[in-house]
Amino acid sequence: MSADVADEGRMVTQHTEIAIIGGGVIGSAVAFFLRELGYDGTVTVFEKDPSYQFASTARSAASIRQQFTTTVSTQMSQFSYGFLESLPERFGDDGDIGMFRGGYLLVADAARADALRACHKTFVSLGSDIAWLDAPDLAQRFPWLNTEDLVGATLGLSGEGWFDAYMLLRILRREARKLGVVYCDQEVTGIDVAGDRVTAVRTASGAVWSCAMAVNAAGPAGGQVAALAGCELPVEPRKRTMFVIQAPLSNKGMPFIFDSTGVAIRPEGDRFICSAPPDPENDPHPGDDFEPDFNLFEDKVWPALAHRIPALEELRMVSAWAGHYEMNLLDHNGVVGPHPDLANFLFATGFSGHGVMHSPATGRGIAEWILNGRYTSLDLSPLGYDRIRTGTPIREALVY
Ligand SMILES: Cc1cc2nc3c(=O)[nH]c(=O)nc-3n(C[C@H](O)[C@H](O)[C@H](O)COP(=O)(O)OP(=O)(O)OC[C@H]3O[C@@H](n4cnc5c(N)ncnc54)[C@H](O)[C@@H]3O)c2cc1C
Repeated sequence: MSADVADEGRMVTQHTEIAIIGGGVIGSAVAFFLRELGYDGTVTVFEKDPSYQFASTARSAASIRQQFTTTVSTQMSQFSYGFLESLPERFGDDGDIGMFRGGYLLVADAARADALRACHKTFVSLGSDIAWLDAPDLAQRFPWLNTEDLVGATLGLSGEGWFDAYMLLRILRREARKLGVVYCDQEVTGIDVAGDRVTAVRTASGAVWSCAMAVNAAGPAGGQVAALAGCELPVEPRKRTMFVIQAPLSNKGMPFIFDSTGVAIRPEGDRFICSAPPDPENDPHPGDDFEPDFNLFEDKVWPALAHRIPALEELRMVSAWAGHYEMNLLDHNGVVGPHPDLANFLFATGFSGHGVMHSPATGRGIAEWILNGRYTSLDLSPLGYDRIRTGTPIREALVY
């Protein structure tokens, strides 16, 4: 059975049991897992731009790590990695996401060493397969790395890597549609609320879709969509630039390196991609700005790379792109689950740079909540909305 529906426009009321607002990797994962877990009601995903040109998913570096310090994020990575690994088995050639197995290498100078050692203890206690390397081990293992000012590093030995996020989105969307999920190419411009419930979503064409539940999976527009229902959610876009470089250095065996300066680099094909967060005082709401920030490369990325990997002094920038993080301004972690005052309005947004890797766990969690009114596998309640209301951030030491 397939697939899309025409939004019939002005004055027509249609019905869907579940309205998912946003058809990126998170919204599509929710749709996919609803069917996977046996939900047989109507599910409609509202997506304002089915080209996904500006979606976070299509502009992601799409890497997955196990190196988190909270139980919930670690468990989400464990489940999600297993799910990503299972795709070729489940869907054959149609399950290919270009998965590359490679570890993250988080390096620490003297100022960060104690904190990173403490993180390493936590990784191990949470069951992650992460090694601690002292500087001499590091120098031996990665001879092209300048370790002079480093004390040590953590290296992921399994469960980490990178892939193509757009391919993952296409698989989730395709499989959901095969199982009768409908994608409606319309922007949601209004959400009707009566008492403590969402009753309908309204689209730009003027159509009204009554619904039993609505899911906010609008990515960087998560805060805007929450406001349509009168809810506050501090999730806003923040621009992040990725630079593609070439250099006279083989990237074979190179991990995804996070330098103590915040600069990150990993292999991408036979080239490299690298990035750095802008300084907080230079990180405004970007509006519609998707222009790469080339100053960031000159001021921060290139000097840090040339110091850490001397062979990169001779790098050549090939291209660059920018995308928007869906930044949760409270604590840079996802907001997942129902709003306390609108029990049928669920959040699945705000992951701030780790939403692709956690999309399978988020999709399954939200689907469980819809089916059972509670989580039945991983407990995602630490990511619940209550912390937004009380202003209580999650203490995850490693957010990028
Ligand atoms: C440069 C960069 C690097 C990144 N690197 C990583 C990484 O290495 N690992 C990782 O896990 N994550 C990474 N991320 C973050 C990751 O890409 C996001 O967390 C993830 O894609 C979020 O998925 P989403 O479905 O919530 O958002 P999106 O992909 O943005 O999807 C949301 C969708 O909602 C639609 N929408 C919005 N408002 C409405 C509305 N009112 N009506 C209808 N549709 C609407 C949008 O058109 C969009 O398609 C990176 C992001 C960027 C920008």
